[in-house]
Amino acid sequence: MMADRSTQVRTSQPKSALEQTAWPRLDDGLIELLRRNGQTRWLDAGDVLFDVGEETYDFTYVEQGHIDILDRAQDRTVVRIQAGNVVGELGMLKGQKTFLAAIAGVTSRVIVVPQPVLRELVATSPEIADVVVSAFAARRRLLMEWNEGGLVLVGEENDRTALRLLEFARRSNIPHRWVDRSDDEAVVKLAATCDLPADGAAAVIGNSRVLTSPTPRELAEALGLDLVATSNAPFDVLVVGAGPAGLAASVYAASEGLSVLAVEDTAIGGQAGTSSRIENYLGFPRGVAGAELAYRGEVQAVKFGARLTSPRRAVHLAPESDCFAVRLDDGHAVRGRAVILANGVQYRRLPLDRLEEFEGQGVYYAATELEARFCRNGAAVIVGGGNSAGQAAMYLSRYAECTHMVIRGEGLSRTMSSYLTSRIESDSRIKLWTESEIVRLNGDDRLSRVTIRHRGTQGEHAIDTRALFIMAGAAPNTDWLGGQVRLDDKGFILTGRDAAGDLDGFATSCRGVFAVGDIRAGSVKRVASAVGEGSVVISAVHAWLQRDSRPPA
Ligand SMILES: Cc1cc2nc3c(=O)[nH]c(=O)nc-3n(C[C@H](O)[C@H](O)[C@H](O)COP(=O)(O)OP(=O)(O)OC[C@H]3O[C@@H](n4cnc5c(N)ncnc54)[C@H](O)[C@@H]3O)c2cc1C
Repeated sequence: MMADRSTQVRTSQPKSALEQTAWPRLDDGLIELLRRNGQTRWLDAGDVLFDVGEETYDFTYVEQGHIDILDRAQDRTVVRIQAGNVVGELGMLKGQKTFLAAIAGVTSRVIVVPQPVLRELVATSPEIADVVVSAFAARRRLLMEWNEGGLVLVGEENDRTALRLLEFARRSNIPHRWVDRSDDEAVVKLAATCDLPADGAAAVIGNSRVLTSPTPRELAEALGLDLVATSNAPFDVLVVGAGPAGLAASVYAASEGLSVLAVEDTAIGGQAGTSSRIENYLGFPRGVAGAELAYRGEVQAVKFGARLTSPRRAVHLAPESDCFAVRLDDGHAVRGRAVILANGVQYRRLPLDRLEEFEGQGVYYAATELEARFCRNGAAVIVGGGNSAGQAAMYLSRYAECTHMVIRGEGLSRTMSSYLTSRIESDSRIKLWTESEIVRLNGDDRLSRVTIRHRGTQGEHAIDTRALFIMAGAAPNTDWLGGQVRLDDKGFILTGRDAAGDLDGFATSCRGVFAVGDIRAGSVKRVASAVGEGSVVISAVHAWLQRDSRPPA
């Protein structure tokens, strides 16, 4: 029996600017284009257009009647798509499984366009791309704002597994609702709809399926986000890492007609995705949140047909007879006729007792809203004197009573941009500890105190804090390459003439394999340069693909 959905529901009637983008009225020309590429159908009330967990589903224009988008857990209407609007969401372009269902609310007439046809139209017709891509991206934002998407994450604020899931969902723009175990009423209500374990972290998806303490990978798999390449046929380009460099490479390659798969270990956006505000990227005079920039890049890449899969880590690279194989951490292999290594750097860890124990429990490597909560009205401690540490200090000082910056040098001027240095020096809520280092971490289940030592006087000072941010330089992610490409003495990938006398630009010592962004020896370690390199390398990839494009024997 159909659930009663007659109570007040959200509709595709725009009320805000975001909703205006999310629920566009299609003009006659676009409707005609859809009609030519699709099929007109009548639906009876209750007919299912698609249900939760479907891998392929059609793009649908509603000509008459309306379609209800349902959260299947309680058959609750999330939004009603009225006549004149379309049914679809960003996941359709990403190749993600459905996480909500679409059901005709009344007798309705629709134009149904198969998903592959829609993707082709989006990649080739700017008119439809403008409307559909903007609408889909805005709908994903609305779902995030509404905390709707059929996914409920459950756990305690301090539970490492729950926090990892939350971070993954937030950084990957997966719409979700958070239920804290301390909220008895919400837990009881949720437990009435599914088989919720009595404690610990859990994820409830789709038709009330419960995953107990899942990893981000397991969650991604269950949501159909973890696109495993089913075909053995090589992509034109395989991109490892989807930070700014990998995203730019994906956008440029896909927009120039190459088939692209980008493999990302953690979350789309890379280091830039963790930056609270990037102020020196061209075109954003007021700065842009790293997560926002990453989201835009991701939408742009999928618009052109690039495939992005996350979280999946490349663990091995090997040439085959006519392409390269990259093995992933679950044993699957993906293939590319060219490979772009864009897998950046990661923050150095400090040689401190109990560091690992406190990671995620008071020790962090990024300063986003998620971590900033732990500094509210307390102290935040940051180790490092580079731009990322400076940005973190500016950001955290909005939350913390006092933000301590601990640096080994005598001052910031040699390591930080001057605009940040002067802001930090003039901010009374930020205290700079020069020529100092952290020597001890204390706490029970989570960090509660750090001890700083002055390198000259050896004097020690303890600070009570729930949040230590380590931003003390970065090391390249090149261990997994197993000698396939030449590295410099610090482990960064050599390219161009540094790699071999006759090579240009971003070519590595292994022909057909390119390196861009922070992972490249001599790179500038900036968003703009990573984006620039990721864009420019595609012309060399074209040249490689047009030549013999056979990996070295
Ligand atoms: C907090 C912070 C603030 C910053 N602020 C600024 C700023 O204001 N302005 C500026 O210009 N720059 C800034 N930077 C630097 C800038 O973000 C980097 O230079 C830029 O992100 C480099 O891009 P990338 O794509 O080369 O590498 P990354 O951003 O490091 O991306 C690499 C990606 O590869 C993935 N990866 C790693 N290994 C593997 C593997 N084996 N398999 C699959 N995937 C893998 C990683 O998970 C990551 O997502 C900041 C950095 C940080 C951390």
